[in-house]
Amino acid sequence: MSNQDDVLITPGMQRYIDRNNEYLAKRSRYIRDVVKKWKFDTIAVHGLYSVEEAIEDYQGSIIEPMFVSTSQAYRDSDEMAAALAYKIPTWCYSRIANPSTYYYEWALALLEGYGFNGETSCCSTSSGMSAIMTAIQPFLVHIRHHVNEPRNIVATAQCYGGTFQQFSVRLMQERDIECRWVEDPTNLDEWARNIDQNTRFLYGELPSNPSQGFFDIKAVADLAHNHNLPLIVDSTVATPALLRPICHGADIVVQSASKSITSSGFGICGAVIARKGLVTNVPNEGLKNDFALYIKYLPNRDYGPNLHPVQAILTLNDLRTLRSKMDMLSRSTMTVAQYLSHHPRVESVQYLGLPDHPLHGLASKYLWLVDAEHDEQYKKPINRYGHLMSFCVKGGAEKARTFFDGLMRIWRATDLGRIKSVATIPAISTHQQQGEAGRKLAHIPPNLVRLCVGGEHPDDVIADLDQALHLAK
Ligand SMILES: *Cc1c(COP(=O)(O)O)cnc(C)c1O
Repeated sequence: MSNQDDVLITPGMQRYIDRNNEYLAKRSRYIRDVVKKWKFDTIAVHGLYSVEEAIEDYQGSIIEPMFVSTSQAYRDSDEMAAALAYKIPTWCYSRIANPSTYYYEWALALLEGYGFNGETSCCSTSSGMSAIMTAIQPFLVHIRHHVNEPRNIVATAQCYGGTFQQFSVRLMQERDIECRWVEDPTNLDEWARNIDQNTRFLYGELPSNPSQGFFDIKAVADLAHNHNLPLIVDSTVATPALLRPICHGADIVVQSASKSITSSGFGICGAVIARKGLVTNVPNEGLKNDFALYIKYLPNRDYGPNLHPVQAILTLNDLRTLRSKMDMLSRSTMTVAQYLSHHPRVESVQYLGLPDHPLHGLASKYLWLVDAEHDEQYKKPINRYGHLMSFCVKGGAEKARTFFDGLMRIWRATDLGRIKSVATIPAISTHQQQGEAGRKLAHIPPNLVRLCVGGEHPDDVIADLDQALHLAK
C-alpha cells in the first residue's frame, strides 16, 4: 500500500524499511505455518496476538492492549517519513490505525478466511452501516469521467432496513446512483437481467434480516465474475461461525459486528473483510490487490469512519467464544421455532432451520457449524441456522402488538444478536421508514415479529412467548 508513488527514500528511511520488511516476512511465516493451521476456536481466542509479542511489546499482558491513544511517536524523521509514506507498518494516528483495532481486524480477517485457499484482510469500521458505506463507495467513482455518468448497483430487496435506506435514499435519490432491487434472489435470471455495462457490484444479504432470504452464493458470485464485478455479501446474521461467503466466491463481506459477534451488547462496530485480488471493473490496482487495506489507508483515512480501540477489545472478548455460542443459540432457536410452528395463535414461522421453509434445502448447503467434524459432541458436519427467526401472529397487526406488549422476559428492542432474547415488530421499528411499498418489497407484513433467541434456557423463552400469545387471543 503506497500513499504516494514519488516519495524520495533516504538511506535512513531504507534502514527502517528493511527492518520492517523482516518483521512482515516473519509475520507472514507465523500466519502461514502456525495460525492458518489452527482450528477456528483457537484463532478466535488468540488471533494474531502471540505470547512472544505480548512479552516483547506489551509487558506480558495476556489480553490484547487497549490503546486509548490518539497517535504514535517516531524515533526520528526517517522513521516518520517512511511511516507516513506507508512504506512501513504504522498506526500513526488512531483515525487511520491503532494497535487494538489491528488485533480486531486480524481476528476477523482470519475467521472469515477460515478454510479459504487464499488471503483475506479486514478494515474495522465504526458500525455495520459504515462498513457497508465504505465497502461500496470505492466502486462508485466516475471511471469514464463524464458528469452524468450512469451508475447502478444490483442488490437483494430483502435486506436490513438501514441498508435499504442507504441504497434507496442516499445513493438513488440523493446521488442518482440507481439501485436495482432483486426481489427473488434465488432466481439467477433476475440478477442477470439487471446487470449492464454501468453496473458496479452485486450486493446480497443472507440470511436476510428479518425475513430469512437466502440465495446461492456460488452461483451469484460466478455471475458477478463473468461480468467483471465483485459480489459483496452482508453476512451479519450467520457470522463466520456458520458461513464464510469468501470461501464460496464472494469478494467482500460486510459485518455488523454489533450483532452476534459482540453478543454482550457492549456497543456498535463493523468490519469489511475482503479477499486479496478481487474482481472489479474499476481501474484501480490498489483496490484490486488488497481492498480492505486500500480503504483503510486511503478513503477511510479521508472520511474517518474508524472504530474506537476500546470497542475493538470489547468485541474481541465476545468473539473468542463465537463458535460454541452460535451453536448453542442456534439449537435453542430451533427448539423455539419448532414450538411456535405448532402454536394455534401463530400464523407462520420463518426460520431456515425448519424443514418446511422453502429455502431450507438451499440454506442447508451453506450454513454449517464450523469444525463440527472436529467436535467431540458431533464428530461430523452439522447444519446450524443462527438465532434470528421471525413469525406472524394470527389476527393481524393489532394482535401482534398485544402479544408484543405482553412479553415479560424477552426484551422489546430494535436489536439482535444478543445473549439475551430480544424481539421487535419490524413494520413499526427497523423497517418503518421505508413505507408500505418498501416493506412489501422486503416481505415485511405488519404482524411479523422478529425474535432473536438468546442464551436463556429455551423452556423459559417458550414460557414467555406462550403467556404473551395467550393474551393475543
Ligand atoms: C444491524 C445490521 C446492520 C447495521 O449495522 P450497525 O452496526 O447497526 O450499523 C447491517 N446489516 C445487518 C444484517 C444488520 O442486522
